[in-house]
Amino acid sequence: MTMSMGFFLKKTFFYILIAFLSCALVASQGVNRSQLMANVQNTKDCVTTFSSENNRVSTQFCKNISQTSIEPTSSSPFTPDQSLTEKERFLATITQKLSIIPVPNSFEYTLLRAYGSAFVNQIPTIKLPPKVLFTNDQETKQFQLTLTMGKVNNTSNCELQKSAADAFNQARAQVQIPLKSGYGASDCTRSFATNLRFWQKYANNNTLEKVRQGKETKILGTVAPPGASQHLWGLAIDLRVSNEAQIQALNQNGWYRTVEYDVLHWTYVGLPKERLTEFGFQNKIVEGINYWVTPL
Ligand SMILES: [Zn+2]
Repeated sequence: MTMSMGFFLKKTFFYILIAFLSCALVASQGVNRSQLMANVQNTKDCVTTFSSENNRVSTQFCKNISQTSIEPTSSSPFTPDQSLTEKERFLATITQKLSIIPVPNSFEYTLLRAYGSAFVNQIPTIKLPPKVLFTNDQETKQFQLTLTMGKVNNTSNCELQKSAADAFNQARAQVQIPLKSGYGASDCTRSFATNLRFWQKYANNNTLEKVRQGKETKILGTVAPPGASQHLWGLAIDLRVSNEAQIQALNQNGWYRTVEYDVLHWTYVGLPKERLTEFGFQNKIVEGINYWVTPL
């Protein structure tokens, strides 16, 4: 009697134990599955950068998944963690504006390296495109229609995003700064068609293919591939700058040379010079000209 009761209790305990373990196993599998899902999501939405020295994963930059359906906000000023490397600081900053960071070695990454400086702009009224490359005229127009534009004083039809135009007018109030053409539109905000026309003037499909494959980059300092120009964003202007006073006035108002070899081209970054390195910018002197380039 005592024996069988004891056996019964042991048996009951055994079944309870089995039931408990099964539950725990199912629960743990559930967690694992959701972790796995999170990882899959991660690889899809993150860009991993590799350290060239040891070929190890050094950093991951992820798209904020909760932000995919809303406009990236620029109302709160962002300062990257200064313990990060230049490249990490730059990428952390532009992730605030650009929801998908191009994958290293891609055509878009090459474009980001050459023209991505504008994405560091922290001025709340400045708008940046959702991606580094517009595919056609319609897409470009659609973005341009969302911009608040302003006129550059004493020009026929030179327009920039209003805050960029205001900053440029301010610089021009300090010192005379002539536009490349002397008066007008093509030096300022351009259409996709104008960008394409300029490209065809200096390059062709063959050049484009070489840029796509990463075999040609110098052309990017002469002309931007169709759909990739900063001039499409209303944040660039081509100028004839010949003295230090002009450079100083432009820099003091947030304008910098950012595209290597493109001496005439100025970008509205909207930051004081002493803060540029905080965001990962590198100072580069090419053929005696000072550029602030991306660290990519
Ligand atoms: Zn330009």
